[in-house]
Formats: sequence, structure tokens, C-alpha cells
Amino acid sequence: MTGDLHCAKCGYNLKGLSVRSVCPECGLAIPATLLAKVDPHAAELKPIVWRVPIALGLVVWAAAGLLAACILWLLRTEDLATLFGVATPVSEGVSRRLGELAVTLVGISGLGSIAFIRPHAGIPGRQVFFAAVAVVAYLPMVIALHRLVSVFNIAIPTPYFGASPVSVTRVLLRLAIGACLIVIALGVRPNARLLVARSMLLRSGKVDRQTLYGFAGAVGVAMLGDLIHLASTMGIGSLGSIARLTGTALIGVGSLLTTFGLLGLFIDGVRILPAIITTPIGERDVLGPRTGSEFTPHDRRG
Ligand SMILES: [Zn+2]
Repeated sequence: MTGDLHCAKCGYNLKGLSVRSVCPECGLAIPATLLAKVDPHAAELKPIVWRVPIALGLVVWAAAGLLAACILWLLRTEDLATLFGVATPVSEGVSRRLGELAVTLVGISGLGSIAFIRPHAGIPGRQVFFAAVAVVAYLPMVIALHRLVSVFNIAIPTPYFGASPVSVTRVLLRLAIGACLIVIALGVRPNARLLVARSMLLRSGKVDRQTLYGFAGAVGVAMLGDLIHLASTMGIGSLGSIARLTGTALIGVGSLLTTFGLLGLFIDGVRILPAIITTPIGERDVLGPRTGSEFTPHDRRG
């Protein structure tokens, strides 16, 4: 062992020891540490220069989005209160402040999304462009969400189960937000996948998690509900009310799936953090250039 490598079990520095021996501190076979820590693809991975800002951006992006969604759910408790005939729990002032907090969190999430534009060198220009479009899409989304929570949440606190008719402007604002969310999810996806591929853990798991596609699909379900609401404003009599109920159901399911999608993105973000913050360890870093062929951490025959 010519380079620094810390035992996978106890953290002892194995430098200077034979590859075929065991850790003198805990007895773990050194090949076990090599398997766990040495990345066979380390040489192909481009170095991330701004490791901490990229890692921070990623976590802030996902966490702020998830928190904003939770707050938007809180704002709908009034709807649920109306549905179940309980006294309204949220006052206008609280509703306004919660709405502002959600808008701020979405803005912070947008700042975090900058990390996706060009996390390291050697990324195709097309992918950099898509991620930049995603970041820009936060601007109309923040404006639409701000209008939604500052005007419509106050004027119509119970848009789904209250007596007030469907507001076309409110539905259009929601559709605009949904469209932005889909643009963001698809825009960051290519570079997000690049970052996920850096994690040995996620790569070797052989599970191709399509979290961002799933998220975009969930938003699409809610948008379908909004489109049905829009159609319900043109419906006559009972047909209109059936359409409204169907739309509300789809919005509810879509919103729930969207929130789970955000939770999934947050979990994935936390899981790939170690792969972004630390430099990948290659065979040559610990075994030296000449002995590199002696040991292959992953069986290349499959
Ligand atoms: Zn050890």
C-alpha cells in the first residue's frame, strides 16, 4: 500500500502494509477495505473543484423544496377542516406568513439548483444549457407561487372543498407552476444523473432510480386535475360538479406523489453527498502505478 487508505472498519491508516495482509488494529482483511473504498472508475471521474458549494447546493435544493411542499400542505388544512366540518385552524395572518415562507423556500431551492449547471468540467454544452434553463424556470415559478399564496390563498382559503367556484386565474397559476416544475425536473436530470453516477454505492446498487422522471409524472397528474377543473368551469350543472370533484381528487393524489417525489430527491441527495465531498480513491492512489494491475476491486468479467 503506497498511498493513504483508511481501514473500512476502524479507520486505521493502512499505508505501507501488504495488500494481502490484515488491518493491525481490527483484523479486517485489507482487500475488504479496497473493495469498499477503491473506485474502479476513479480515473474516469472528473474532479469537482467546488466540492462543498456543489454538495451544499444539492442538499439545499432538495431540502428547501421539500419544506416548501410541507408548508403548502399546511395551508390546505383549512380545506380539510371545511371537508370534515371542523373550525378553521389557520388565520389569515398565519396563512399569509406561511405562504411567504413557502415562496422564500422555493427561491432558496432555486439558488441551490445553480449547483446543477456545471458541477465539473467536461459536461456537454447541451446539458449545461438544460440545467441553466431549469434554474431560470424558478423565476416565473416564484412569481406565480407568490401571487397564488398572497392573493388567492387569502381570498379563497378553501379552493377545493369550499363553496366558492373554481377560479380560472388560480388554476392557470397552478398550471404555470406545474409547467415550471416539469421544466426544472427534466432540465437538471442529465447533470443530476452525472452526480449520482459518482456514488459507488448508488452505481453498484444496480437500481436505476428514476426519481426525477417520477417527480415530473406526479406533477403531471396534478396538472391533469387542474385542467379538469378548468374544463369544469365550462361544464353545465351536475357534469361541472363531477368534473370538479374528479379534478380535486387528481390534484390531491398528484400533490401527494409530488411530495413523496421531493422526499425521494432529498434522500438521493443525501446519499450521494459523500461521493461529492470526498475525492474518489483510485487503485493507483493506494497501490501505486505498477501494482495497479495486481488487484482489481471489481471483477471485470462481470
Ligand atoms: Zn481496522
